[in-house]
Amino acid sequence: MASHIVGYPRMGPKRELKFALESFWDKKSSADDLKKVAADLRSSIWKQMSAVGIKYIPSNTFSYYDHMLDTTSMLGAVPPRYGWNGGEIGFDTYFSMARGNASVPAMEMTKWFDTNYHFIVPELGPDVKFSYASHKAVDEFKEAKALGVNTVPVLIGPVSYLLLSKPAKGVEKTFSLLSLLPKILPVYKEVISELKAAGASWIQFDEPTLVLDLDSHQLESFTSAYADLESTLSGLNVLIETYFADLTPEAYKILTGLKGVTAYGLDLVRGTQSTELVKKDFPKGKYLFAGVVDGRNIWANDLASSLSTLQALEAVTNICELIFQCTDNLVVSTSCSLLHTAVDLVNETKLDDEIKSWLAFAAQKVVEVNALAKALAGQKDEAFFSSNAAAQASRKSSPRVTNEAVQKAAAALKGSDHRRATNVSARLDAQQKKLNLPILPTTTIGSFPQTVELRRVRREYKANKVSEDNYVKAMKDEIKKVVDLQEELDIDVLVHGEPERNDMVEYFGEQLSGFAFTVNGWVQSYGSRCVKPPIIYGDVSRPKPMTVFWSSAAQSMTKRPMKGMLTGPVTILNWSFVRNDQPRFETCYQIALAIKDEVEDLEKASINVIQIDEAALREGLPLRKSEHAFYLKWAVHSFRITNCGVKDTTQIHTHMCYSNFNDIIHSIIDMDADVITIENSRSDEKLLSVFREGVKYGAGIGPGVYDIHSPRIPSTEEIADRINKMLAVLESNILWVNPDCGLKTRKYDEVKPALNNMVAAAKQLRTKL
Ligand code: GLN
Ligand code: ZN
Repeated sequence: MASHIVGYPRMGPKRELKFALESFWDKKSSADDLKKVAADLRSSIWKQMSAVGIKYIPSNTFSYYDHMLDTTSMLGAVPPRYGWNGGEIGFDTYFSMARGNASVPAMEMTKWFDTNYHFIVPELGPDVKFSYASHKAVDEFKEAKALGVNTVPVLIGPVSYLLLSKPAKGVEKTFSLLSLLPKILPVYKEVISELKAAGASWIQFDEPTLVLDLDSHQLESFTSAYADLESTLSGLNVLIETYFADLTPEAYKILTGLKGVTAYGLDLVRGTQSTELVKKDFPKGKYLFAGVVDGRNIWANDLASSLSTLQALEAVTNICELIFQCTDNLVVSTSCSLLHTAVDLVNETKLDDEIKSWLAFAAQKVVEVNALAKALAGQKDEAFFSSNAAAQASRKSSPRVTNEAVQKAAAALKGSDHRRATNVSARLDAQQKKLNLPILPTTTIGSFPQTVELRRVRREYKANKVSEDNYVKAMKDEIKKVVDLQEELDIDVLVHGEPERNDMVEYFGEQLSGFAFTVNGWVQSYGSRCVKPPIIYGDVSRPKPMTVFWSSAAQSMTKRPMKGMLTGPVTILNWSFVRNDQPRFETCYQIALAIKDEVEDLEKASINVIQIDEAALREGLPLRKSEHAFYLKWAVHSFRITNCGVKDTTQIHTHMCYSNFNDIIHSIIDMDADVITIENSRSDEKLLSVFREGVKYGAGIGPGVYDIHSPRIPSTEEIADRINKMLAVLESNILWVNPDCGLKTRKYDEVKPALNNMVAAAKQLRTKL
């Protein structure tokens, strides 16, 4: 009977690690305090898995910040600017790389595949001197062993490490990261030898890049890397773990041909191709770690269905010459690390029992994996399986899940197109007649600074400690303050500042049906930062208007146009835990219809400019290029559905945050918004190069003129300079002037002068046009 967990959340069930880290960073507690919290978390996870009966328990999946950064430390690949002088890497160097210090900024961070987890990107050049500089993997293995748990130490595999790195400054164009393989493998060998000496019998290499679109050179580097490690690995069982997508036939062939490797971990939740590949051809005598329990979601596994998948696979993997030697060749596992799901359902005090019965967080998924392994070995826990079956059935038939009217309306959308009747230039003319805006109009992205006091009122209102009347008054006062400020600054298109919103997805989710919220369902986003995604469990509908009250109140305070402010369907979808009982696009269409109702109600309430944020549209792009077109088609369609019914004179804006535009520019144009605002200050040249290359763009566009992520106040000249650069490639009559993103995390004494300079720059340039 064999069960395995790919990896486990580090934060703790109540974000214990977050609080310990932040208190240490604030110098309110010592390094030893932090280490103690971390050791307690690790120990409770190992003991929990061992008590459940998991056979292959991972170690070294804990991290103080990020597992890629841990690997950088293991390899001693510290960029020189952090002034590390050799020896074992301590907290100082480690956290400087992660967060920067007084004199050096942090290393770059980027998204881990298509998850919301962010890793610290290794910076590697030809001069890096690798050395074994962090013994964390071995230390954690020994630590678990001392607790009586024999673990499988987990390392990021050498090829994925390099493929996820970026070339150091100065060698960006010329350097092949994979050329570093021969330099990092000696360090891997040292680690492997130490693990062997410490008593490890298994080792897991995470090689998730194997699921990406790789060329033959990249694929071959897996072959050469493991061939080089083969003799060092001898005596160990070696698991190569892949996740987040199916394998292509080419990648599967490379994986199953690796020297010295005994086991393959596959994500069997995402797609069906890997299962087919295994059924066609599985190497004799090897282990299959079958990832059937979804590590990316919070839904309880359909155990009966997983069991039948496993049984079909068992027939394939157990064929070997000596039947006695190949028992347990099929290992039940999670689809990926449980890092990407919430920690423990036990702490959910606000969800009702019915919804809870449909869910499984990390702790529950461990139990599911074990139950499946036992069932496969003929020791099925009937009671557990039947209560799971009952929960699956209740989810299928619950009236809370299904809303016939919504299903019908969403189904009717498929296949047809939804577009505004008039083209964008005609619409812009009609809008200009109504809005009468100056050239280079100024606006902001939506939120204004959220003060401690503001957050307190909101919190207390939620806890019923502040009356409805007092809450409304406090919010209106805040809106008035923001409106007055914008008038004083002479901004052209105003916002109400979003004081009533804690989070741009949660705010809408709380008012839509089909959404549930957890109290502790946190998932690590980066470092100590966690997000608590809403759970979409049912058909989505909008019982009543969500923003009209606030937008109308704000519009009544000014003669200038007030932007209605909504979050778009794709962003709501991509930042939630989405139901897995229907395709994602189906859920997205439902949300689109709900937002459409809101857009039309805003229009009726005389809100003539409506912004529908799609900050997360780009990040939902599938890992494989072959799937991009389909995703973009329904995502863009969903956006258009929200506003296809408005009048020509209603101006639709969208904001796209940091979107790495270039490869999806045609989809962005196809969204057919009247005005798009985008983050730009981190990638000036990149964004504008699309237009320089001749992409025709007729809609309004506002590439952010300054970076709101920094407290720095940009000068008028600097902003004017930026706008001038844009004017060189974009027509002046479509250009808008706005910051990069919402101002929520900034302070008023940063925002006021920055916006003041922004308006001054726009005015200065207007006189010259
Ligand atoms: N309207 C939102 C705000 O200003 C947009 C936030 C975002 O793009 N992430 O806060
Ligand atoms: Zn943004």
